[in-house]
Amino acid sequence: MKKIFIAAAVVTLWAGPASAALKVITASTDLKYICERIGGAEVKVESLAAGDQDLHMVEPRPSMVFKLKKADLVVRVGLDLDMWLDSLVNAAKNKKLFYGAQGYVDASAGVPLLEKPAGKVDASMGDIHIYGNPHYWLDPANARIMARNILAGLKRLAPEKGALFDANYAGFVKEADERLAGWSARAEKLKGLKIVTYHGSWPYFAARFGLDVAGHVEPKPGIPPSAAHLDGLVKKMNAEKVKVILAESYYPRKGPDFLAARTGARVVTAPVSAGGAEGVETYFDVFERVLGELERASSAGCASSAEVCGGR
Ligand SMILES: [Zn+2]
Repeated sequence: MKKIFIAAAVVTLWAGPASAALKVITASTDLKYICERIGGAEVKVESLAAGDQDLHMVEPRPSMVFKLKKADLVVRVGLDLDMWLDSLVNAAKNKKLFYGAQGYVDASAGVPLLEKPAGKVDASMGDIHIYGNPHYWLDPANARIMARNILAGLKRLAPEKGALFDANYAGFVKEADERLAGWSARAEKLKGLKIVTYHGSWPYFAARFGLDVAGHVEPKPGIPPSAAHLDGLVKKMNAEKVKVILAESYYPRKGPDFLAARTGARVVTAPVSAGGAEGVETYFDVFERVLGELERASSAGCASSAEVCGGR
């Protein structure tokens, strides 16, 4: 008996450690959150961009190349939002992450795009958003599509863990659906609210929750506002009685403050990603925060017309 017991112990000892966690690099913190929800303990995820960064403008760094060299999977927002990732993946020379390879996930695959250019793309349209609007994650209904793309990527790399990933995916989607139902009910009171946004980050959010985007502080995506553009916007906002300006947290306040002073509109500073403001830790927190701030700004909560509402 004793001999058998020893043999069993040796076998257990040499079964080896559990297989290592998959190393995942994401472009954004929202994708990191979704990867962690689906991968659980089987993944180690890092986001290249911080939550309070403009995803159009991430500066490539050698440390990012180093992370990509060691990664099993890269998950990108896609379209022309994170084109900076291409040079990083090329520099990392990690073939697993090349376009179409096993470790490549474009989270936008299958997302119904808004603002898709109908005709020929030319320079007059600005330098960004050329394939359609890339800020699709701001419609929480698209969480399901992003999650499905990530699930497929994880299952390609670790099919033996497929049942676990499937279960985690189902749990994530269930929570996303429940939260969306709650947010949609809350947003009934915001339906038809006219807003001006700094950048064109919000068409998906606006379509989901029934907001009316009357204009942008930027004349075109990625182009800073001119005095003439702001003057025109003041006239439009006054004519259409636009009382809320939604400004992504990483843009300068000068333009929104100029508009607020001349229209009586309130400026709402909004995170667009997990980690985009204090207390906004997860992808879901983004919607909680932005809806909450819009409720506050559109109600009598902001006493003075010039008062600035927002997290920071
Ligand atoms: Zn954009």
